[in-house]
Amino acid sequence: MRKQIAAANWKMNLTYQKAEVLLKEFLSQPQNLSDNKLVVLAVPSPYLTMAVDKIAGEKHMYIAAQNVYSKKSGAYTGEVSVEMLQSIGVTYAIVGHSECREYFNEDNALLADKVKICLEHNIVPIFCCGEALPVREANGQNEYVTGQLQDSLFDLSEDQIKKVVIAYEPIWAIGTGKTASSLQAQEMHAHIRSQLTTKYGADVADSITILYGGSVKGANAKDIFGQPDVDGGLVGGASLNAEEFKQIVQGLK
Ligand code: PEP
Repeated sequence: MRKQIAAANWKMNLTYQKAEVLLKEFLSQPQNLSDNKLVVLAVPSPYLTMAVDKIAGEKHMYIAAQNVYSKKSGAYTGEVSVEMLQSIGVTYAIVGHSECREYFNEDNALLADKVKICLEHNIVPIFCCGEALPVREANGQNEYVTGQLQDSLFDLSEDQIKKVVIAYEPIWAIGTGKTASSLQAQEMHAHIRSQLTTKYGADVADSITILYGGSVKGANAKDIFGQPDVDGGLVGGASLNAEEFKQIVQGLK
């Protein structure tokens, strides 16, 4: 069975002290995790080391960066490299979040480079894709997401793509309180898997974890994650509340 993941994206929220409290609250109860049920916490860059230290000894829990740069090192002021992440024990990185695409003009070609450099350094990229509302209203979501996959992922080898986690995040559902229905999520996840099947074959496509993101909460997680092609979620707002996020983790199948 492919890995089921509850991933938290704290975005640019919380002071260091509040982040420590949130982590402590979250870690205060066992989560019933297993080799196939993982938690990944994408925390702000200045808190990565603290978070890695706090989860040391926790099984099936990993820390992610919220972004990473496409170059190995050099004069790129303000950026964070895969080598830096690797050197402090970070094992996942979000790549291509819609906020980074929108506010920092990250395009599909840059994201292809980011995915590749992550894989070269054993960082699992959580590659985000998803359409804006006008695209959905014009029923163009399948073509749009196919384009994102083709441009950023489909140069990867079979061995490489197997290590990528894909997160489908319809932009109209992120931070808006509007969730895609479980049927809408399943339809797109099945579409993504069919594209992966066409390109890499069914065995590879079936092994790839595809997360849903967009206003996931404790109350809707089980229903959405219960869909056959939905393998968990990438969670923003609701991951800032330990109890709510625990409930989301419990929704993993
Ligand atoms: C996200 O930031 O990836 C996200 C899905 O946010 P939210 O859960 O708040 O919609």
